[in-house]
Amino acid sequence: MSETIMVAGGAGYIGSHMVHQLLKTGYDVVIVDNLSTGHRQAVNPQARFYEGDTRDIQFLKQVFAQEPIQAIIHMDAFSIVPESVGDPLKYFDNNVIGMIKLLEIMQQYDVKYLIFSSTAATFGQPQQSPITEQTPQQPINPYGVSKLMMEQMMHWVDQAYGIKSVALRYFNAAGALADGSIGEDHNPETHLIPIILKTAMGQQDTLKIYGNDYQTPDGTNVRDYVHVTDLAQAHILALKYLQAGNPSTAFNLGSNQGFSVQEIIQAARKVTQKAIPAEIAPRRGGDPDILIADSSRAKSILGWQPQYTDIQAIIKTAWTWKQKHPQGYQS
Ligand code: NAD
Ligand code: UDP
Repeated sequence: MSETIMVAGGAGYIGSHMVHQLLKTGYDVVIVDNLSTGHRQAVNPQARFYEGDTRDIQFLKQVFAQEPIQAIIHMDAFSIVPESVGDPLKYFDNNVIGMIKLLEIMQQYDVKYLIFSSTAATFGQPQQSPITEQTPQQPINPYGVSKLMMEQMMHWVDQAYGIKSVALRYFNAAGALADGSIGEDHNPETHLIPIILKTAMGQQDTLKIYGNDYQTPDGTNVRDYVHVTDLAQAHILALKYLQAGNPSTAFNLGSNQGFSVQEIIQAARKVTQKAIPAEIAPRRGGDPDILIADSSRAKSILGWQPQYTDIQAIIKTAWTWKQKHPQGYQS
């Protein structure tokens, strides 16, 4: 009998790749998603799908009464930084209350393992680069605060109830399944690579580069892009790590390499063979100069070996998705 894993947020960008990877590895998968930012078309038909909200404990009870869930992968959250600054309560409500209810149901049904999508945003404007697990977490926006609160809750429910957890702090998730069947489709889309590819497709005239006066070699922000299927694989390794009896912990997941906005545009021009017009625009609020992960701990402890180490290869998968789905899942 294969183990049953619940993916909360399994109709979302990273969640749909997570579900694919679990099914490919032989797990039995239950998806819980309210489709607030996810897509029905992204729901894998080989998984059992329950449409509902993780803040709704009655709904969760119905799911857990029917399904022999052994672990939860928690990916259901709101994650747009500027939106969180304008409407922090929306973020505390969805992200923090959703986590409380999932932990309650885990306690009630004696589910012992939780793998959580955390974020580089919990570090704020770090003084240190690359960022290790020891770097102080000082988030500078409500989204990052909500994720740090969720990590802190996980610590205390382990102490009290023995719920074991791993927080995986992703840096910039990017790319799509290599065959282009699932991919990134946020609305609104705020992430750099899909916006660049929209420009490459001629769906917008010019890409706006948000600031070129940062403390970086070319003045544009430097980020660490990590492929979405490599992220998914890290969750499976984290689950195995907990099931082997290891203690709760957190890992930073990135590529240990930084690319500026200008460098990403150049790489996308090579991949797409399109001009991709770009212009300098004012800074976007709250962008730290440089965010690069030190992922050596995930590599040594989990045995994580990212398959995508080349930025053009990552962008190519996003381009394949974009060409097959010019309007995202609506296509
Ligand atoms: P997404 O918006 O595509 O996916 C989130 C999914 O969760 C959606 O399908 C949405 O419908 C669902 N959801 C949200 N609230 C819910 C609720 N209360 N009940 C049930 N379902 C709910 O986002 P994503 O880019 O795939 O991100 C997934 C996770 O990874 C998020 O927790 C995000 O904070 C985290 N993360 C993402 C990135 C990134 O670069 N995309 C980086 C770091 C961390
Ligand atoms: N960015 C940009 N133009 C865009 C979208 C993003 O210049 O249209 C920049 C943004 O300022 C940041 C980087 O690209 O420096 C990555 O942004 P993204 O939103 O993809 O990820 P973040 O690092 O903010 O999570």
